[in-house]
Amino acid sequence: MSDESMRPYHGAAGGWDALVSTRRALKEQGAPATGARALLKANQPDGFDCPGCAWPDPKHTSSFEFCENGAKAVAWETTSRTIAQDFFAAHSVSQLRAQSDHWLESQGRLGIPLRYDSRTDHYVPIEWADAYALIGEHLRSLTTPHAAAFYTSGRTSNEAAFLYQLFAREYGTNNMPDCSNLCHEATSVGLPKSIGVGKGTVQLSDFDQTQLILSFGHNPGTNHPRMLATLRDVARRGVPIVVFNPMRERGLERFRSPQHPAEMLTGTATNLATHYFQPRVGSDSSVLQGIMKRLLEMEREGVAGSVDRAFIGEHTVGFEALSEQLRTVDWQQILNDTGLSREDFDTIAQLYAGSNCTIAAYGMGITQHRHGTQNVQQLANLLLMKGNIGTAGAGICPVRGHSNVQGDRTMGIDERPAPRLLDRIKEVFGFEPPRADGCSVVECIEQILRGDVQVLISMGGNFAVAAPDTVRTYDAMSRLRLTVGVHTKLNRSHLLHRGEALILPALARADLDVQRSGIQCVTVEDSMSMVHASRGFKAPPTQQTRSEPAIVAGIAAASLPHSRIRWRDLADDYRAIRRLIEQVIPGFEDFEERVKKPGGFHLPNAAAQRRWLTPSGKAQFSPASVDSSRVSAEFPLMLATIRSHDQYNTTVYAMNDRYRGVHGRRDVVFMHEDDMRARGLTTGDAIRLRGVHAELSGFVVVAYAISRGSCAAYFPEANGLISLDDFDEQSHTPAYKSIPIQIIRARS
Ligand code: SF4
Repeated sequence: MSDESMRPYHGAAGGWDALVSTRRALKEQGAPATGARALLKANQPDGFDCPGCAWPDPKHTSSFEFCENGAKAVAWETTSRTIAQDFFAAHSVSQLRAQSDHWLESQGRLGIPLRYDSRTDHYVPIEWADAYALIGEHLRSLTTPHAAAFYTSGRTSNEAAFLYQLFAREYGTNNMPDCSNLCHEATSVGLPKSIGVGKGTVQLSDFDQTQLILSFGHNPGTNHPRMLATLRDVARRGVPIVVFNPMRERGLERFRSPQHPAEMLTGTATNLATHYFQPRVGSDSSVLQGIMKRLLEMEREGVAGSVDRAFIGEHTVGFEALSEQLRTVDWQQILNDTGLSREDFDTIAQLYAGSNCTIAAYGMGITQHRHGTQNVQQLANLLLMKGNIGTAGAGICPVRGHSNVQGDRTMGIDERPAPRLLDRIKEVFGFEPPRADGCSVVECIEQILRGDVQVLISMGGNFAVAAPDTVRTYDAMSRLRLTVGVHTKLNRSHLLHRGEALILPALARADLDVQRSGIQCVTVEDSMSMVHASRGFKAPPTQQTRSEPAIVAGIAAASLPHSRIRWRDLADDYRAIRRLIEQVIPGFEDFEERVKKPGGFHLPNAAAQRRWLTPSGKAQFSPASVDSSRVSAEFPLMLATIRSHDQYNTTVYAMNDRYRGVHGRRDVVFMHEDDMRARGLTTGDAIRLRGVHAELSGFVVVAYAISRGSCAAYFPEANGLISLDDFDEQSHTPAYKSIPIQIIRARS
């Protein structure tokens, strides 16, 4: 392996390299001026919401309210490149299928609506009206509405998501798989059982008051980089930041803030993590059980602050059952599972006991497991043990990866909708919505393979590439009668069909959205339940590009000729959509007025007020079955899929992973040096990954600071190792972060 592709990174996260990378991203997209103007508008009160992650905007925004990866996302969408008729005439679908995912998405913005012509194997132009009519014909020809599925990616605005769920329900199905199924569904399923709401209870201001941060299974330096500014402020207040992550991540170690000239000019940086624990991949529940077990012991030893009995007595149920379970858990099993020491657990428990208000932030390292929902509930248990929910400076903080994934769920994008939502839809719109649960992403793929689902409409995202079990998923895509992709960019999910296929070009966040009533704004909801407006400013790539609300309205009007809903009127003026949201979704009173305020408004969160919307009316402790490790003699290692620093979900901006020292490639597997030595491997050796379900070749091994027994490879390249039925029973989230494998040297 050339030194060029593997050179350790010694710098802090952020810093000059982040600025250089930002400039390169704008330059590579051929619109540095437009891109730069867009960045000055990103996350500003009168600007547009960054299409990246869902980290909230501070109350008092600075002129530069974006991070390096936000800049890549904005540059990717404001690119000067557009692909239309000529491009698709020059490239057959078979030829496009042979290209890399990075190449496909970097060709430019989609400029015209397209229909697949199976005679020529090319996409050809189609008129919007004909596209809508074709979709309508297919949907009306299905023997049951449950033969159609409506996928949503977290980029979809509140207005588009609300219309989309309404359309699917008037059409007659709850088949609304969404990207949340693949990431934070365990949060949306687990937290309501524990505290009564499926969202975080923390606001940005709580970070100003907290006395301790616990960070579980996320890499903010890459996936929500503006969080580093918040962690920097916390660290500079001398507040301990305790990290649990199998991999050493630069963004959790030290940060040089580009917003602070003194740091940039003097080359200083702020150390973030005060304690960095590297448990084995997939041992999260055991880590949490170990901490709680030690706290109970410390309480018996008379250590003050170990357990908040007053809070437990007044606000919770189920603590005795959990305590009994913790008493019976064997320490040796916890140590074997986690790879941590008794001293580690003592240190962590002492820090936690010493804090009166603690925030626990987490990402997919907690949720993407067979026990993802249980992991989330154990995290809630730990916080409830000390009353760290519903008090200033404390709370649970799931950090969402997509800008409006939380908003989409709030709008009703939910394959298992709550009866009160369906009742409200019936009251307001006068039709009986379907009551049977719909399908999640993995269920949807199974149903396509069985022939039950025959039409898939995707609002953004890259369904087939994001899903697990690549071979079966691609096979499923080829069996669909119709696939419709509403997208800004070309991706692989547009190229796997054998039946009818349409690609419909959508406006991006930075694009000006003009409808019959004038310039429109949309709204989004961030990880901390702040709802705010997003207004595009730049001319769309072509006159043929349309907004997501307009596209949904066009499809609905063409598919439901007898609909009671005036779809096109709603698309003409989004204020009308917001008036309907106000009637159907709780918490949106005076929506139009409140969203005009700079920064928008906060959606009420009952748990943050210590009102527990659980069946018992109390916060609920939940015992757990310790996550007995899934490794075996045949599959002795646990692999987690990860994102590189030049990637956003399935979108690969470039082939580098600066903080981990990887350049120009994505075929790497990160492994502990001792585990490599035990197999006679050295950095650069070609290897195969053998899993329970599949075997993948074409990788090289790289020595990295990762916990023993753990390894990591990139998402989606390693998705083929995960079987379609390898998911969390409660949330249906695939086990992307705990795949038992064996590593074999590839024959030369
Ligand atoms: S932190 Fe997230 S939302 Fe903020 S600029 Fe970066 S990618 Fe965009």
